[in-house]
Amino acid sequence: MHILLIEDETELATTLRAALQRVRHVVDVAGTLALAREAAQCGLHDIVLLDRTLPDGDGLSLIAPLRARNPGVPIIVLSALGQLPDRVAGLDEGADDYLAKPFALEELFARIRAAGRRPGALQVETISIGRLLFDPVSGEASVNGQRLDLPRREIRVLASLARRLGRTVLRESIEMAVYGFDDCIHSNTLDSHISRLRRKLADADAGVEIHAIRGVGYLMRETR
Ligand code: CA
Repeated sequence: MHILLIEDETELATTLRAALQRVRHVVDVAGTLALAREAAQCGLHDIVLLDRTLPDGDGLSLIAPLRARNPGVPIIVLSALGQLPDRVAGLDEGADDYLAKPFALEELFARIRAAGRRPGALQVETISIGRLLFDPVSGEASVNGQRLDLPRREIRVLASLARRLGRTVLRESIEMAVYGFDDCIHSNTLDSHISRLRRKLADADAGVEIHAIRGVGYLMRETR
């Protein structure tokens, strides 16, 4: 999943990011409300983890704008403000869940899984394109029952394109999905992921093609 982590405590943010990356999530970290708004504008996040006491305000003020941009996105508040009135305020403001700090990583992971199971939270159904079957949650792709061996970044590219089948996906949007907001990107790296993915799909005779829209992005469609 592509996670937006809004947390200003550097040490905690680093620990959480590393832990989430170990279980194959892509994580964008934003340390202020302003940066979080910026990250939310370009990214299609599957889940948001939201701290409250941020340098430029209460994280709860971000819930409405996040929802306006991405209505189905699950939002879990992670806050040291853990008293009953704080938790009630968070849930009333529209958070899906509220976890008081300090918390155990296992519990955060379990809550992320629970949020992902909620209807409308994520596109969880297997996507079928041509002879390709792709499970956007597990990242498994197969053609005629044969599993394709795809590294994590190619899976991200595939998910980004397959979820918007037949529509042009902006290059920046794919890069966000693949690398996250704050990774350093070399402009030709995405093209090499795309060309490897394209070759694997062709070799497997998946009946799927990735069409480049020059200067704009890419589009996935069934091969005619
Ligand atoms: Ca904080």
